[in-house]
Amino acid sequence: MSRAIELREVSKRYGDTYAVRRVSLTVEPGEFLVLLGPSGCGKSTVLRMIAGLEDITEGELLLGGEPASDVLPRERDIAMVFQSFALYPSMTTRENIAFPLRLRDPSTDHDDEVRTTARMLAIEDLLERLPAQMSGGERQRVAMGRAISRRPSVFLLDEPLSSLDAKLRGHLRAEIARIVAELGVTTVYVTHDQAEAMSLGDRVAVMRDGVLQQASPPRELYARPANVFVAAFVGTPRINLLEGVVHAPLDGPMALDLGRQRLCLPQPLTTDHQLLRIQQGRPVIVGLRPEAVRIGPPSQARPGEAAIGGIVEHVEYLGHEVLVHLNTGSRRAVVPDLESSRPAVDAGPARPARRPWIDRALHRVNSVVVSRSSAPGPAQQPAAVPPERRTTAAGDLVLRSGPEHRVRVGGHVPLLVDLERLYVFDHTGLRICPAPDRMPALHT
Ligand code: ADP
Repeated sequence: MSRAIELREVSKRYGDTYAVRRVSLTVEPGEFLVLLGPSGCGKSTVLRMIAGLEDITEGELLLGGEPASDVLPRERDIAMVFQSFALYPSMTTRENIAFPLRLRDPSTDHDDEVRTTARMLAIEDLLERLPAQMSGGERQRVAMGRAISRRPSVFLLDEPLSSLDAKLRGHLRAEIARIVAELGVTTVYVTHDQAEAMSLGDRVAVMRDGVLQQASPPRELYARPANVFVAAFVGTPRINLLEGVVHAPLDGPMALDLGRQRLCLPQPLTTDHQLLRIQQGRPVIVGLRPEAVRIGPPSQARPGEAAIGGIVEHVEYLGHEVLVHLNTGSRRAVVPDLESSRPAVDAGPARPARRPWIDRALHRVNSVVVSRSSAPGPAQQPAAVPPERRTTAAGDLVLRSGPEHRVRVGGHVPLLVDLERLYVFDHTGLRICPAPDRMPALHT
């Protein structure tokens, strides 16, 4: 069967500025694909090109296997729902849903089709109401009803829930998943909300600055992010990203130097860790998801865990779990384009600048703390993180813990890092550990 949608090296330029650059993407029949990325990264432009509402500057679009760049929007068998649900204000729900059907065939009232659609959306009791007599969530259901009533072969949704409150959004999100699965219609859904993307998509395509970064099933996106931007965009709390340097002496154990502490890689080295050897002396970004770090003394380390220490800066009790914000004396790596795209709460509370007592405490309490002299020099800093973007905040690591852990702000805690869940990104932001699925050939 041919692909429902195929974009081949598609670009969109407005004047001199590219909104979308050489995006290649396919959507299989019946698939639910989510386009995810920060505001302004080109998601809606991709959707509008699929719908035929924007011309394609370069590249090719195929629908159902046929070239579609020159096909008129109304001939594309596509229905689209926007954030601002455009319903006809003087029409009832029944008339709004029947409208696209009557355009196609004005000879009947299409009552059966309207009822079937209304039942699917649980809006049968709203059929005689005008848009002004309904809530935002109800109006959005009617807008969806109008879009799906003529059973399009492709359904495009552009941030359909973003104008609704959080509770309603969660509810309608589940409804959309159910309805789309029931219809089996190919769907492309645009959102900047990573939780929404991860919960809805068969696959999630992450965009940044007009460029497609990765298109993968949600689990894979989380577990094997192609680059540091994807790693940071997906997951709450956000992955910890620390500036580091690979320390790989010929005659000693390998470690990742985090400035004031080191992560010693366990022997024997895993294949992924061995591949880091060629980065000796190079600046990298070390990624640790909050669940890859736990509180525990070195004596309790399991195979594959490395011991470090941290000072507790802030504790968030969330009932079922606790998020512990720590200072490990490392530098947080800042990912350009990302900071404005996620709520500030993800970065933890506002933090004071580093205090000398934290430095002293970190030195005192843990045997694996290394001296300041082994910290990377300025020349070794990653190019992906320009100096002006680096943070000087004291807290640099968040860990997720069970509610039974009682930690005190200002106290030192020993930490165990699961190095099987270690991510390392090179100075350009590409993931180098775990090794990329397609490794470039090694030239010696
Ligand atoms: P997103 O949906 O990810 O928020 P958009 O696709 O709406 O992003 O926009 C991508 C970029 O293209 C933005 O920088 C936006 O300002 C620009 N853009 C979108 N539409 C137009 C237009 N009609 N004219 C000029 N620039 C545009």
